[in-house]
Amino acid sequence: MGNDGGSINKVTKLQLMISDVGHSAKDDDRNGFLRASQWECCRLSNKKLELPIVSDYKGHLFNKEAILEWLLTPDREDYSQNQIEKFSHIRKLDDVVELRNLSQVSDGEGDFSLRCDYNDTKLGQSASRLVYLVLCGDVLPATSLSISSSRRCPKCDQQYQELDVITINPSAKDALVLEKRMQKIKDTQHHNNSPRKRLKRKRQDDKASRTKKMK
Ligand SMILES: [Zn+2]
Repeated sequence: MGNDGGSINKVTKLQLMISDVGHSAKDDDRNGFLRASQWECCRLSNKKLELPIVSDYKGHLFNKEAILEWLLTPDREDYSQNQIEKFSHIRKLDDVVELRNLSQVSDGEGDFSLRCDYNDTKLGQSASRLVYLVLCGDVLPATSLSISSSRRCPKCDQQYQELDVITINPSAKDALVLEKRMQKIKDTQHHNNSPRKRLKRKRQDDKASRTKKMK
């Protein structure tokens, strides 16, 4: 009798596995491909990612070269409408952070892979969430941050705030956290934490409106 329960469970498990494969193999393939390509391709140029790499506040990865070209083309004549809308938040270098603690490891056949130096994991294959810190740009597994409570970068010892932690290629839930962060800082700071010059202009505006009221 005892054995029966075991074999029934095995059969049920097998059936579940089969039904899983059956109804969404194609979607899984596609999602798997997108998931892999976001760690290997620049979001703007679609070229293979290679150092130096930068990231925006959304945690997306770009070749620095592609971003420089983007910034040097203010009229965006070489870009599609879709690209222009998608990357409109990148207006200056302060809107991205250059990533560090990454290596380009050759596979000996003319190709290479990108690795996080902290645990030598290939990008996109880390068991834990990968993040970077805005001030130093160091890429780290999220788990490495929770080891110490002092909020110092485990790589370079620079202090950071909770808002300085950016999840790379975030899940929908983590993406929401990043959007909220940008909403919070956008009036005073750029993504890389440098102050926005707009503040100065605003103060002048305030001064002007006060002078007007006095008249
Ligand atoms: Zn650091």
